[in-house]
Amino acid sequence: MRDTYAAERVHGFGTTIFSEITTLAIQHGAINLGQGFPDFAGPEWVKQAAADAIAADLNQYAPGIGLPRLRNAIAVHWARNGWREIDPDREVTITSGATEALFGALMALVNPGDEVICFEPFYDAYVPDITMAGGVPRFVRLYPPVGGGVADARAASWRFDHDELAAAFTQRTRAIIVNTPHNPTGKVFTRAELEYIARLCQEHDVVAITDEVYDQMVYDDVEHVLLATLPDMWKRTLTINSSGKTFSLTGWKIGYAIGAPHLTWALRQAHQWITFATATPLQAALAVGLETAPERGYYAELRADYRERRNLLTQVLGDAGLPTLPVEGSYFIMADISNTGFASDAEFCLWLTREIGVAAIPPSSFYADHTDLPLLARFCFAKRLETLQAASERLKRLGDASRVLGC
Ligand code: PMP
Ligand code: GLN
Repeated sequence: MRDTYAAERVHGFGTTIFSEITTLAIQHGAINLGQGFPDFAGPEWVKQAAADAIAADLNQYAPGIGLPRLRNAIAVHWARNGWREIDPDREVTITSGATEALFGALMALVNPGDEVICFEPFYDAYVPDITMAGGVPRFVRLYPPVGGGVADARAASWRFDHDELAAAFTQRTRAIIVNTPHNPTGKVFTRAELEYIARLCQEHDVVAITDEVYDQMVYDDVEHVLLATLPDMWKRTLTINSSGKTFSLTGWKIGYAIGAPHLTWALRQAHQWITFATATPLQAALAVGLETAPERGYYAELRADYRERRNLLTQVLGDAGLPTLPVEGSYFIMADISNTGFASDAEFCLWLTREIGVAAIPPSSFYADHTDLPLLARFCFAKRLETLQAASERLKRLGDASRVLGC
């Protein structure tokens, strides 16, 4: 008998930081501002539509590529926003969350030995996905804004070095992953940045996989721009999204990918052997969600509620002595922990969860290269105002506790 039957490809994966911190939060009764999920209910009318779909016996396999009604609703959503007229039969695929769409996209578009560029910090699934496809990740740093609190929020945005990005493109580059709005930084890539990325993709004949799961969560005057809508990018961009964030139903795991027929064809080749199809009644319910959300004013309300939560958590963290970086989009805030005296973000987050009773995620988990890491902690504000207030009460002990620790 071998020591393990596990294949080599999974040996280095470890446990995702989200499971680790959530388990610890439950053990210690901590308020979980770590893993990104809402602690409030998704919209009643979408949940009712799911119950209705089950009662109406929409309970057998959906077509592998997704329910026609949901694919149509996505096409209407794109057209209504003025992004593009898309063909729901040839350009939209429904997947089990954005997670499956990302994995399928990399399996479908990357050959062994191909390089895939992603910005660091990165959403943690990208690297295992790239390596499972036999690809090689190449990282380009996003640098935090210096100074913070600058009047012009865009001047205080995370940014990449244009030369570093250009240098990451080689003859072996096959794809780039662009996550905007970005987890964990809260950055929304500007049109100019996306135009620069587009130019490099065109020069090097590279495909772009965009992860836009937080596209409805952008604040103030920030504009979310789709890379796929830039000139000449439609034919080389696969756009991934997920209803989990938009409708606060992360457990439903209904995602989707939109792309020109040749990209969609490739994705579907992989998708049919990964999950084949995803939950039928939930797809039907999300079709209802997308169809009626605009007339209900749902997106504007969602954004306003998130803005209020973001502002409250910014204030709570600031009052606790943790200055925050600006958040343009997503439902995450990065707080500066360099004054707490902890040597690493992991030590700080474990301590905060166990001793203070508030869970946060150490962003070092989202870096491959640990040199010169900023000392930050990621907090999720997809929480009821009462939850954030309760966290505020606990965080008041932060100052006293760090004095006791001699930090
Ligand atoms: N991409 C990003 C940037 C995310 O934060 C998440 C978090 N859930 C996902 C993808 C995965 O989405 P889903 O839950 O729909 O699989
Ligand atoms: N996307 C969520 C986050 O960033 C977590 C999703 C997961 O646990 N896989 O916190």
